[in-house]
Amino acid sequence: MSHDDPGRAAHHEPYTRLVMLARPGAGKTTQADRLAHHLRLTHLDTGALLRREVESSSPLGLTIASALEHGELAPDSAVMAVIGPGIDDAVSTGGYVLDGFPRHLAQAKALDAFEPASSRPQAALLLEVREEECRRRLLARASLEDRNDDTPPTIDRRLATYELEMLPVLEYYDNRGMLVRIDGDRPSELVTAQILDRLGH
Ligand code: AMP
Repeated sequence: MSHDDPGRAAHHEPYTRLVMLARPGAGKTTQADRLAHHLRLTHLDTGALLRREVESSSPLGLTIASALEHGELAPDSAVMAVIGPGIDDAVSTGGYVLDGFPRHLAQAKALDAFEPASSRPQAALLLEVREEECRRRLLARASLEDRNDDTPPTIDRRLATYELEMLPVLEYYDNRGMLVRIDGDRPSELVTAQILDRLGH
């Protein structure tokens, strides 16, 4: 197995269950959306599903609301309750590109314990963009979008949380031969092309 191309070497079937990992602001959602479109998979955007749950003012939404507002991770049980049915639905219609989950090691392990086993991810794409560039993009987005978690203090907290929580996740996927590293620091169309190429499309 070539070291720099683990997912592809280990896998021969078309990919239908992918996770997309990246720092906040790296373009994860844009790329997950395009990838899902190209591969005819469902894009599961965890942050968007959580925000929708909050807007619905359901009891579940209330347990998520304050975490979202403060740029902190929502409780695992609530997040699983929101994305679990999404994963089931997506698998029954061909597969998924999961965006925003896992955010820490326990979530990665929970996903790998998901039943049935045929709904677990096959590869994890890591979109690599430097922290400073992500901060710059998030600050630019803060002035354009009405997302109350895009303020300088929450941006810093989200970037710091990523560093702390995601390193073990990257190691976990790397050790399982599932991690596919993508250079995200280039024009977004080229990033998409690179992802498709690495997946053998
Ligand atoms: P995002 O849209 O991915 O930037 O996520 C927005 C917010 O949703 C995050 O700051 C967290 O509060 C929450 N969130 C998203 N994904 C997760 C997750 N996998 N686990 C816990 N909280 C999450």
